[in-house]
Amino acid sequence: MSEVFNLAEEFGKNVFNDAVMRDRLPKSVYKKLKKTIEDGAELDPSIADVVAHAMKDWAIEHGATHYTHWFQPLTGVTAEKHDSFISAPSDGKVIMEFSGKELIKGEPDASSFPSGGLRATFEARGYTVWDCTSPAFLREDAIGVTLCIPTSFCSYTGEALDKKTPLLRSMQAVNEQALRILRLFGNTTAKRVAPSVGPEQEYFLVDRQKYLQRKDLIYTGRTLFGAMPPKGQEMEDHYFGAIRERIGSYMNDVNKELWKLGVPAKTQHNEVAPAQHELAPIYEGVNQAVDHNQIVMETLKKVAGRHGMACLLHEKPFAGVNGSGKHNNWSLTADDGTNLMNPGDTPHENIQFLLVLACIIKAVDVHADLLRESAADVGNDHRLGANEAPPAIISIFLGEQLEDVIDQLCDTGEATHSKTGGTLKTGVDILPDLDKDATDRNRTSPFAFTGNKFEFRMVGSSDSIASPNTVLNTIVAEAFKEAADLLEKADDFDMAVHNLIKEMLTAHKRVVFNGNGYSDEWVEEAERRGLPNIRSMVEAIPALTTEKAVKLFEEFGVFTRAELESRAEVEYENYAKAINIEARTMIDMAGKQIIPAVIKYTTQLAASISAVKGACPDADISTQTELLLETSDLLTETKTALSKLEDETAKAAETTGGKSQAEAYHGNVVPAMEALRAPVDKLEMLVDKDLWPMPSYGDLIFEV
Ligand code: ADP
Ligand code: MG
Repeated sequence: MSEVFNLAEEFGKNVFNDAVMRDRLPKSVYKKLKKTIEDGAELDPSIADVVAHAMKDWAIEHGATHYTHWFQPLTGVTAEKHDSFISAPSDGKVIMEFSGKELIKGEPDASSFPSGGLRATFEARGYTVWDCTSPAFLREDAIGVTLCIPTSFCSYTGEALDKKTPLLRSMQAVNEQALRILRLFGNTTAKRVAPSVGPEQEYFLVDRQKYLQRKDLIYTGRTLFGAMPPKGQEMEDHYFGAIRERIGSYMNDVNKELWKLGVPAKTQHNEVAPAQHELAPIYEGVNQAVDHNQIVMETLKKVAGRHGMACLLHEKPFAGVNGSGKHNNWSLTADDGTNLMNPGDTPHENIQFLLVLACIIKAVDVHADLLRESAADVGNDHRLGANEAPPAIISIFLGEQLEDVIDQLCDTGEATHSKTGGTLKTGVDILPDLDKDATDRNRTSPFAFTGNKFEFRMVGSSDSIASPNTVLNTIVAEAFKEAADLLEKADDFDMAVHNLIKEMLTAHKRVVFNGNGYSDEWVEEAERRGLPNIRSMVEAIPALTTEKAVKLFEEFGVFTRAELESRAEVEYENYAKAINIEARTMIDMAGKQIIPAVIKYTTQLAASISAVKGACPDADISTQTELLLETSDLLTETKTALSKLEDETAKAAETTGGKSQAEAYHGNVVPAMEALRAPVDKLEMLVDKDLWPMPSYGDLIFEV
């Protein structure tokens, strides 16, 4: 029996968490820090030295040699620069130092991070600023033990260069407006309302040796070629299937790493596609959830290496097989425990809930384009609006019970009852009867109400969840504000709130859809309803800079116009760069690996034809001949498509202007990539497997 892992003891062991702070900080300092963490009060800089000192001692006791400001630039991954704790040697000796200044502020050379024009390279100053609401943690890996300090990343002029700063701003906005709503209903105790988020993370695992034989996986994270194996996911035997030893041992390791870092990893299972899995933590405050999701992604990748595997976080590593997303479960909770999204057993009587619901419906309808944009990333183009779930059209699933309440309100002006779930009868005497939920699930909706939270299912598996939550918080803050502005002035509150709910629901219920979101009928129906259907990232980006968006974000101090414009610019750039890499990888693979392999095969076929004919002139060589003709035709098609892709890529690379360039890649390069892939995938089915220069889909997803 191996050593017993004591989960309760190990959990959070590497985190400078509340217990450690209480233990190690003087009471007055601890209290001041808590005030910032819990009440959002401004950080008192005079306590920084004391906190830094305690943090350093704690880190060094745990073997740390370095510290780093850990931040989330617009690259989508985290960034860090390590400094050791040593002071300048004196008499050949060093002491360990870490000052309050070093804790609070860092100054990485920011010029190499995307800024979308916010900073010229000659104005390279960027600052990382300690975010004490997300606890520092120790990372143990080959590099040693490093104290990681979560930070915001801003330019010299205070513009946000990262994903965390706007998120923190949006939390402030929704807190302020949600409190106004609570006050209207007589709640005088709640001091803070914060978003809670639980992101479910999907990922694929493949064998590392096979991964290394595929340049597309190495350079782009997805396969750019690949024919479907005889078996796909049609048997649905992988979903929730028994977890195999190799994967189980990996998950075990991932969990242990995450638990030590205070990430509440909770649920794990096999997903729909072969080789696809999911990990879900318990929900937390959104800032923490965002940071933890970054840690989850990093850990999934790191631990895979140790187990001889590679973890693919890409949204669509394999064509024809389900892709990966990240379900962002979101709710608003007050510090007195009230979940604003809890309908109770009789939602028709829960006016506060109905108001919150109506505000969310309105927010999602008015800003569907922004929400869609927040889930746009290069890989997600293969999911949203392509051949799989969820659709690119934003709609809300409420379920039978709430939809019925809304219908009552809109039709008669009065909601008098709520449907109940009844009892689940299995027909087996020994099984207990269960109380059913009032509503079934709907897996096809991009934004689904699931009992006491909304589940935003569009987010890509490799993407940070910061942007979707920043948008959610802000659009809901706006709807709350508009409601509160009106209701605070009302003479007859009951009447006013009743009318407002009815008005909002009537105006925005077009976004509510309980049917099958994957069907073609829905696409047509949504168009009739006037709902936007934004099919690609490039088409989604303009939503960031509409007058509507600028007004929204400026009003709540989440983004300035310049920040929005710079973000749009960065996204165009990211898109163009990613597609350029994909195209060049395809060109490389087709030219250096695939075409040579096919030529070898045709040569073998030709040799066989001559040899057989020579040996036995009457032998039937029609099979070889047919194969040779078919292969040669596809080879020609491949070469033509390759040349076209080379041309289009060169042209797109020359295009100037972020938007135009992204459009060139989207409009011309992507179709040229698809045109090259088609004949190559057919060739893979013809050519001798021993000659095919890379592992097949079958090798990758069925033989992990
Ligand atoms: P599902 O059936 O969709 O997988 P789960 O109950 O497993 O739903 O929850 C999925 C995620 O939602 C988990 O991360 C969970 O912690 C989170 N979650 C549960 N309740 C809430 C809530 N009130 N607010 C935000 N997230 C929540
Ligand atoms: Mg879920």
